[in-house]
Amino acid sequence: AAMREERIKKTKTVCTYCGVGCSFDVWTKDRKILKVEPNAESPANGISTCIKGKFGWDYVNSEERLTKPLIRRGDAFEEVEWDEAISYVASRFKEIKEKRGADDIGFISSSKATNEESYLMQKLSRQIIGTNNVDNCSRYCQTPATKGLFRTVGHGGDSGSIEDIAKADLVITIGSNTAESHPVLASRIKRSQKLFGQKLFVFDIRKHEMATRADRFYQPKSGTDLVWISAVSKYILDRGLEDRTFIDEWVNGFEEYRQSLEQFTMEYASNLTGIPEGELIDVAEDIARSGKVSVCWAMGVTQHMRGSDTSTAISNLLLLTGNYRKEGCGAYPLRGHNNVQGCSDFGSIPNFFPGYEETTDDEVRSRYEEAWNCEIPKEAGKDNHQMIEAIHDGNLSSMFVIGEDTGIVDANINYVTAAFEKLDFFVVQDLFFTKTAEYADVVLPASPSLEKEGTFTNTERRIQRLYKVLDPLPGSKPDWEILQLIAQELGGDWNYDHPSEIMDEAASLAPLFAGVSYERLEGYDSLQWPVAADGTDEPLLFLDGFPFEDRKAKFFPLDFELDYDTSEEYDLHVNNGRLLEHFHEGNMTYKVEGIVKKTPNPFIEVSEELARERKIHEGAEIKLISEAGEATGVVTVTDRVRGNELFIPMSANGKSAVNFLTDNRVDKDTNTPAYKEIAVRMEVVKKK
Ligand code: SF4
Repeated sequence: AAMREERIKKTKTVCTYCGVGCSFDVWTKDRKILKVEPNAESPANGISTCIKGKFGWDYVNSEERLTKPLIRRGDAFEEVEWDEAISYVASRFKEIKEKRGADDIGFISSSKATNEESYLMQKLSRQIIGTNNVDNCSRYCQTPATKGLFRTVGHGGDSGSIEDIAKADLVITIGSNTAESHPVLASRIKRSQKLFGQKLFVFDIRKHEMATRADRFYQPKSGTDLVWISAVSKYILDRGLEDRTFIDEWVNGFEEYRQSLEQFTMEYASNLTGIPEGELIDVAEDIARSGKVSVCWAMGVTQHMRGSDTSTAISNLLLLTGNYRKEGCGAYPLRGHNNVQGCSDFGSIPNFFPGYEETTDDEVRSRYEEAWNCEIPKEAGKDNHQMIEAIHDGNLSSMFVIGEDTGIVDANINYVTAAFEKLDFFVVQDLFFTKTAEYADVVLPASPSLEKEGTFTNTERRIQRLYKVLDPLPGSKPDWEILQLIAQELGGDWNYDHPSEIMDEAASLAPLFAGVSYERLEGYDSLQWPVAADGTDEPLLFLDGFPFEDRKAKFFPLDFELDYDTSEEYDLHVNNGRLLEHFHEGNMTYKVEGIVKKTPNPFIEVSEELARERKIHEGAEIKLISEAGEATGVVTVTDRVRGNELFIPMSANGKSAVNFLTDNRVDKDTNTPAYKEIAVRMEVVKKK
């Protein structure tokens, strides 16, 4: 009995799914996961979790885990030992760098990897190879939000905590299916609604769960959020309802901003969005008269050609109404992946070192060059989108992707996989043999979060430790160890014994993390960046002003033109997004038996009107055709979508993958794919 007890262990970890960052104890017996137990001390979730955090772990013991490095020999892969794989990877990178230059290689880090691993990925890229071509999947989702916040308030993260959203008088969600994408955060909103009379306004083209609970729910035409937000801002100004004291003390650029709003009359907004003028006026009055307003937004805002501008408009509105620098207020771009915030924070982006310091800043660059004893290019590297373009143009011949199934999650996957086929040398590091791995020359077996130590940063900028629950599955290794082996083989002087040493180095170089250390993150302790050298963190940002020269924020003037619409040939609009039960492309959750039982198949949502018009029924098989490609799937008829709008879950895989339909159009400021702006036509394959 004593021995049996010994084998049972309880270890604290952080959820590997969404950006809420729930932390909990995992009970295990050997490799068996007995249960997940939330802890009242968990800063983001208290005693709550959702189905994924509670039950979504079977993939860790999946038979499909990779346990041997693979090297392509002709058309087949051969299993090899780690030594051989590492020396092969290093020698090929070396050869390519010598022949074609460092900028011929591109690195994609993983938003599921730890902060320390993201730090090492950009260090490998910048120090060892010598290129700024390093990016991560925030390029697919929230980079436009970060851009909008940098332009206006200077920090690219949530301005307060999840607690602040719960304390707001009014929460507005825009393009966010919060109940399914950030379940525990949505529960906090539901609770505040019930207990404290918090108001909830939801703007989304799809009637999801939060829409049905909202005090006001509107379905603006796709891609027009900027217009109603700006019209509401103009109305507030025209009526003198702005927060004059806040603006005078804290915001620059008022006059230019005021002028830029001229175009956004209520009539114009109503025509473009389809929301009646009177309703928009009520929204404006309610926002102006609410004491504390928090705005949450997600990919329904960012994955558009004007995603950065729309995020900027949100921040402008918050500045106009004085909704920064107070509890219960602020801007909340809800981060999708568990560590999408941290992956960018720790430097896996082409224009920033860790802590968002520009590569073009000479002082910053020499700080890293001295510490790392190397030369780093000044100019920003290629982002994810530019890397794929560069492969097609013959300007990039090698890539290293960790923990991301680019060949299914990037937009226009026919185009992306055609690029992969052109690569001279392609390394993929993952838990499974993914769609992307099919195109690789080397596949390296990595370990998931439960098998390593490190930190994740959730949507509220909260850095939390995860402890090793299980040993790495024999044959696999944590990403940080693999990156270190490659760096060492390439002559790098890397000697990290533990991820805490990587964090110490990051903290010594990046002022944003100056006081971050593992001692300050013991157990359920956490820190919300920026963290001063003495360990003081900032749950609520901007109390000492905004991080610009005169401590003032900036209004950022915007204009608008409608640059997306359906056409006669492509007459339907496809939206896509998350489901509660599945995560992203489904590589993990489709390996969890309980979840698959509950939500087995991908589907396409069709409105009742459209189903009637096209004479199709539940279960019919349809084919959607866009300019980029085609996808087929099974119909669900529902009132969640209306009119000519369709919805495909992003976890739909195989022939139903939405990214067969998405194309090369991107947000004009960040190159984030406009995943949400896809026009298609429909053919009925089987009527049912
Ligand atoms: Fe994990 Fe997000 Fe669910 Fe929390 S809400 S358990 S972080 S998926």
